[in-house]
Amino acid sequence: MKGNPVTPPVVLSATYQFENSDELIDVVQHRSGYIYSRWDNPTVREVEKTVASLEGYSDAAGFGSGMAAITCSILAFVEKGNRALAIQTYGETYRFINDYLPRIGIEALELSCDEVDRCATEIEQGVSLLFLESPMNPLLRIIDIKPLAQLAHDHGAVVILDSTFASPANQRPIELDVDIAIHSATKYLGGHHDITAGFACCNKEHRERIWKKRRMFGGILDPMTAFLTWRGLQTLDVRVKRQNETAMTVAQFLSTQTQVGTVYYPGLPAHPDHAVAARQMKGFGGMLSFELDADFEGTKRFMDHLSIIKLATSLGGVTTLATQPVTNTHASLSAQERAAAGIKDSLVRLSIGLEDPELLIDDLQQALASV
Ligand SMILES: *Cc1c(COP(=O)(O)O)cnc(C)c1O
Repeated sequence: MKGNPVTPPVVLSATYQFENSDELIDVVQHRSGYIYSRWDNPTVREVEKTVASLEGYSDAAGFGSGMAAITCSILAFVEKGNRALAIQTYGETYRFINDYLPRIGIEALELSCDEVDRCATEIEQGVSLLFLESPMNPLLRIIDIKPLAQLAHDHGAVVILDSTFASPANQRPIELDVDIAIHSATKYLGGHHDITAGFACCNKEHRERIWKKRRMFGGILDPMTAFLTWRGLQTLDVRVKRQNETAMTVAQFLSTQTQVGTVYYPGLPAHPDHAVAARQMKGFGGMLSFELDADFEGTKRFMDHLSIIKLATSLGGVTTLATQPVTNTHASLSAQERAAAGIKDSLVRLSIGLEDPELLIDDLQQALASV
């Protein structure tokens, strides 16, 4: 039959058969084919190649979640006696680096984004791994990545960047000298709030190290989810462009409202890292946060009055989502830790979706009236 499928076939087979023993031996020895789906899978491979090319890296490894990509990638590059350094990461990453790594003999240090100078000193004193995240949650702080990455390379460290908030449409980690770019594909890559997945994009040598850990820990992406990721990727660019535009419109609207205090959006000139973002990113992204002129209860009232905007954690999809970080993502922090991180009870985070910007503004306006 002539004609090939336009979309990648979903190969659900867990195992692969061979003509004879010699063929199998050859494939096992040279990894020249598929053997078992915890190792590699044709659908997953296809999507890995797509994500890698979007990011400009020669390869990528797909995982069952962003955290699987993060933990496996870190473990591929540190061992007992090494030191890992990070700057203000996603909550679960923070726990992995700060609580888990020391338990397996890896010294770990996590700094705040206002301690970049100290970060440089620590790198000079010797680290094996530098883990960065930019933009950061929830105040959308931006790290000037390239100088730190270069310094880390000068001292022999591997540099990993969690680029989830930017997506490949807004940031090019490879051009910032990052070795491994991580995405929670649960967010922008998938883009429809219907998958949990993660990717580590890197060169072939780094992939091989990460791959060996993935094979052992078993966190490979499953073929159906790989297909859904592929489908999401087809619209990544148009989605993110529109989300960038709407986020800017919403940020500007919020900035003019009397019930709103500081608006945190890297696209606003008042944002502390605006200049770095303008230089480093292709777009300012679809995430923003703002403080209400209200206490915890007033902020809760605002959240409860939102209607088109859904009260839900996560981000990067077609539906606009709102969270009050103090009630979920940052609930486990003490009041003191939250104060140190600059997270007030009145802070609201928005992940902008694809709705008509005017509808979003109407929704925010009527909820603001309830504060
Ligand atoms: C969601 C998220 C993760 C974790 O991804 P999962 O797919 O939930 O495991 C890691 N980093 C950032 C920045 C995220 O937003």
